[in-house]
Amino acid sequence: MSQARQVAIVTGSSRGIGRTIALELARRGMSIVVNYHSSESEAQGVASEVRALGVDALCLQANVADPDQARGLVEQVHAQWGRVDVMVNNAGITRDKTLRKLTDDDWLQVINTNLGSVYYCTTAVMPIMIEQNYGRIINISSYVGQAGNFGQANYGASKGGIIAFTKTAALELARYGITVNAIAPGFTETEMLSKVPAEVQEKIRARIPMGRFGKPQEVAKVVAFIATDADYITGQQINVNGGVYM
Ligand code: NAP
Repeated sequence: MSQARQVAIVTGSSRGIGRTIALELARRGMSIVVNYHSSESEAQGVASEVRALGVDALCLQANVADPDQARGLVEQVHAQWGRVDVMVNNAGITRDKTLRKLTDDDWLQVINTNLGSVYYCTTAVMPIMIEQNYGRIINISSYVGQAGNFGQANYGASKGGIIAFTKTAALELARYGITVNAIAPGFTETEMLSKVPAEVQEKIRARIPMGRFGKPQEVAKVVAFIATDADYITGQQINVNGGVYM
């Protein structure tokens, strides 16, 4: 269908990779739902940027780690705009500690925010997409879910879980015209990466064959490709990582 009539929800799009995905899909003519948890003014700013591109934007607060709020977000969009074509499950957090220091709360918060939200939003959007016989579900995983990373057992488990979830969802939903894919960025220049100490950042950079961190735009362009031009791609993990994991 024409992208000009499509509706895309991007979870966690008040900043970073999510914001850039929202703007990239807006450039393709989609109406955009900017979701955030706590950064209201940033999210309103992104919605204004989207509208400046000549498309509609809704700015909706929802903690997608909470099943009721995640489902409520999707229901609100459906009630207002009548369809959901693209669901980008991007919201994510880190609580980095070695396993010896990790608490149950660090574990549960990260698993529920990063992986639980993908399950809640996917199952909420599924009936709408089945009814449409069309949908693109794009889950933002990570290189860490494939390769592991020191101090990120909780984060890596959540991101590896996303890849496994993506494959099963792709199998179950293919017959309804719905594709489900995971994008696995490497280290990308956002606030999340800026929390990593400078000396650790340098060590990471030294391991990247392309010799630099990725830019949010480089992830967003791949998301936009999957959302618009990749009709026969499903169940895949697509790496955008400068060669750090092959
Ligand atoms: P970021 O700059 O920290 O932004 C995270 C976004 O997620 C914010 O908009 C935040 O909104 C939102 N968010 C967090 N918890 C939420 C919740 N419970 N409900 C709704 N929104 C929530 O992170 P980023 O680097 O752009 O990362 C985006 C995604 O890419 C994440 O899934 C991350 O794991 C993944 N990724 C990042 C990298 C990297 O190097 N940066 C690499 C691989 C994968 P609020 O501020 O309102 O909470």
